[in-house]
Amino acid sequence: MFDKIVIANRGEIALRILRACRELGVKTVAIHSEVDRDLQHVKLADESVCIGPAQPGESYLNIPAVIAAAEVASADAIHPGYGFLSENADFAEQVEKSGFVFIGPKAETMRMMGDKLSAIAAMKDAGVPCVPGSDCALGDDAAANLALGREIGYPVMIKASGGGGGRGMRPVFEEKSLLESIELTRGEAAAAFNNDSVYLEKYLEYPRHIEIQVLADNFGNVIHLGERDCSMQRRNQKVIEEAPAPGIDEDIRNNLGELCAEACRRIDYRGAGTFEFLYEKGNFYFIEMNTRIQVEHPVTEMITGIDLVKQQLLIASGEKLNMEQGDVNFAGHAIECRINAEDPYSFLPSPGLINFYHAAGGFGVRVDSHVYTGYRVPANYDSLLGKLICYGKTRDEAMTKIQNALTECVFEGIKTNIPLHQDLVANNDFRAGGTDIHYLERLLDQK
Ligand code: ADP
Repeated sequence: MFDKIVIANRGEIALRILRACRELGVKTVAIHSEVDRDLQHVKLADESVCIGPAQPGESYLNIPAVIAAAEVASADAIHPGYGFLSENADFAEQVEKSGFVFIGPKAETMRMMGDKLSAIAAMKDAGVPCVPGSDCALGDDAAANLALGREIGYPVMIKASGGGGGRGMRPVFEEKSLLESIELTRGEAAAAFNNDSVYLEKYLEYPRHIEIQVLADNFGNVIHLGERDCSMQRRNQKVIEEAPAPGIDEDIRNNLGELCAEACRRIDYRGAGTFEFLYEKGNFYFIEMNTRIQVEHPVTEMITGIDLVKQQLLIASGEKLNMEQGDVNFAGHAIECRINAEDPYSFLPSPGLINFYHAAGGFGVRVDSHVYTGYRVPANYDSLLGKLICYGKTRDEAMTKIQNALTECVFEGIKTNIPLHQDLVANNDFRAGGTDIHYLERLLDQK
């Protein structure tokens, strides 16, 4: 196992990584920006290094500064968390070239999966079902693009090959707006991702978002840890996640999981990863692979009892997977609410001082959060304050627990989306299970 690692992230996930390190006896180096000096994990880490000003480009996204911090601290490895540099293949490559272990897959695998078109090609090769679409970048030939649109059938989705974080996609409902929408998406993709390649995909109208968690070591051993349902979304961003997905039976879970595990063997995948699918009318369609730990990983941990971050560290340090597929047992149900510093209905960010904080607690209640009374939420980063995760023997029990736990959470001084979560966990359709990815938007429109 490593002696010391750099945690190249902030907020709740930095604290989550620090906790896993402590359990494994690994020393930690917290790197942080100037506004993040008072983060909980910075205080708890063995060492800390300020790597730059608040703007992410000058700190958390600044590759030379992150690597220099690892050098100064004589660390062995770098954990990128999620967001920031976690899916940046150039970063992974430079980390390894500088003599550190990148806690994640190989740079070339990240590059292949980071580009949605090459990821789709690799998945098709491996026999993983994908959304019907152009499967290649659109050219400038208007007639050819119109023909593609007609062949796929409206509505269609224009997607940026380099897109991510819910950005770089646009649905098109009628042929007359196709060409203009292609140009718009292309322009946005060039500006946001430095890659103007876009493609067409069938726009699924009522799908659910279901994803499969995998773990792979350096020796070709791969297991899947079942699925998560992340259909409750706004602006293509997840709000509530749960595991297992309501109504998905064991055979379907095992077949899809095994397909993903086999795809990992083919692409020589290493570490923790997630295959994201849209699920409609009994069919799964691959949309992308995330080559990192995800925000919603705790719901899988709760139903399997497997600590995914510890597994990441063990795998990266060169250990063989310490379990086989048959050792993975699924029990109970877990639900996670992402608690954000934002207006619950307009989603406007609400940074500022939390002058009183009280966390929910009790049997089956888990809070992954970096917040404390007196913490000031900076305006410079994503608004996630933490995650409330509840585990029960059944979905109903988990639902009741999270409903109660939400009433216990107190964040004074800023707005949070807790009122929205309270509406959702009381909502009859959500409680019945199986709502689609546009459900929340339709609900908000009605409001
Ligand atoms: P990102 O990399 O930005 O997260 P994804 O490809 O994972 O993008 O898609 C994010 C979300 O966008 C999905 O969970 C889903 O809600 C929506 N989405 C993506 N592709 C389609 C599609 N073909 N039809 C309908 N919705 C889609």
